Amino acid sequence: MKKSEMKPYKELLIALRARLRGDVSSLANSALAKGPDSGESGRAPADIADMGNSMLEENNSLLLMDNEEVVLTQIEEALERIADGTYGCCVECGARIPKLRLNTLPYTPYCVKCAAEMETHRRS
Ligand SMILES: [Zn+2]
Repeated sequence: MKKSEMKPYKELLIALRARLRGDVSSLANSALAKGPDSGESGRAPADIADMGNSMLEENNSLLLMDNEEVVLTQIEEALERIADGTYGCCVECGARIPKLRLNTLPYTPYCVKCAAEMETHRRS
C-alpha cells in the first residue's frame, strides 16, 4: 500500500486509540469525521466518509467482544506497520488485506483467510 493510501488509516487508528483510551479530542473527532479515503477506483463504496462513521459504531460493538487491551496493542502494531510501510499486508501470509476489511478493522494484522484460521484454532 502506498504511504498516501495509509494516511487516512493512520489517522483513523490514532483516533480509535484515543477513543479507546477515553481521551477523545476534537482533533481525533475531525479525523474520524473524514474517514478513510479510498485510493482505489471501481468497487470502493461511494461514500467513505459515511462509512467511517458507521464503521466506528461497528467498532464499538466489536470492542465489547474484544479485549480493549488486545485491540489497543493491535492498533499500536498497525501504526508501526504504517511507519515501516508494511501496513495492509497480512502478517501471517503476506497477502494484501482488502481495503473493505481494513475499513472495518483498520487494526487487523490478518487477512480474512488467516483470521478465519485463527478463529478455528481458538475455538478448537
Ligand atoms: Zn493471511
